[in-house]
Amino acid sequence: MTPDDAPDVRPVDVLTVSSVSDVTPTVRRVVLAGTPEAVAAAGPTVVLLVPRVDDPAPRWPGIARDGRIVWPVGTHGVSLRSYTARRQHPADGVVEIDFVLHGDGPAAAWAAAARPGALLGVAGCSPLGDRPARHLLLAGDETAVPAIGRILGAAGPDTQGVALVEVADAAEEQQLPAPAGVAVRWLHRGGTPPGESTLLADAVAALDRPPGVDLFAWVAAESAAVRTIRADLRGRWGLGRAQHHAIGYWRRGRAMSPSG
Ligand SMILES: Cc1cc2nc3c(=O)[nH]c(=O)nc-3n(C[C@H](O)[C@H](O)[C@H](O)COP(=O)(O)OP(=O)(O)OC[C@H]3O[C@@H](n4cnc5c(N)ncnc54)[C@H](O)[C@@H]3O)c2cc1C
Repeated sequence: MTPDDAPDVRPVDVLTVSSVSDVTPTVRRVVLAGTPEAVAAAGPTVVLLVPRVDDPAPRWPGIARDGRIVWPVGTHGVSLRSYTARRQHPADGVVEIDFVLHGDGPAAAWAAAARPGALLGVAGCSPLGDRPARHLLLAGDETAVPAIGRILGAAGPDTQGVALVEVADAAEEQQLPAPAGVAVRWLHRGGTPPGESTLLADAVAALDRPPGVDLFAWVAAESAAVRTIRADLRGRWGLGRAQHHAIGYWRRGRAMSPSG
């Protein structure tokens, strides 16, 4: 039986690449087209079904009524990876996803090879985990830039705070429009490989908690860096669960999930 034959299982939404461009030397923007419903359901955080680059006929899973992914039996050539829709325009049927070309893994390989007409499946979506606050602390690496861009874009004009973004060098900086009271600080790790720098954690450790304000911290980067920052914010800043969201976006030396 295939997912298509199973009762109560719907086909996944499949988006089609309409254009590809390079935002920075290592960030590739893929613009995908789909129905308004599929685009609306493709973010802000999106679980993508990434076909193998050399597989022209991926066997897509289906989605059960309870949201479970129902995989076809046997090899299917599809990997599950989480990404962020940098922009969604359901009315136009367009969604943009920025992929870091980190040189390894099915999603980075797919993005590096993506051409108009290529297909990408959508298995589900979830919120970014942020919430509006008078003072925001945002901290992330290049994988978090799309999410930080969305959070800054949605922040009220009176929002205060700082966004710390670790990238390789100045060529990796992007335009991130922010409220006047939020400073965007780019941290350059230079020749240190991604996931091996303490730059982001050190930058957070150098910040004092702003006194007596409505505060929210949002952190996403390599898992070990996030663990350090989370412990710092919970300990030194005394942030409770409702005041922060800190999540590892990738793990050094490990794939995010098995490939199909
Ligand atoms: C909620 C969420 C949202 C995300 N949004 C984005 C996004 O918008 N854009 C984006 O580019 N990424 C994003 N990520 C991160 C992305 O899912 C991971 O980088 C993922 O590992 C990429 O899959 P892959 O198949 O390319 O590599 P994998 O198969 O997962 O890993 C293969 C190897 O590559 C290494 N690796 C993975 N990512 C990186 C990296 N960034 N730099 C260096 N080495 C790496 C791993 O350590 C492993 O050794 C997000 C993650 C989460 C959880």
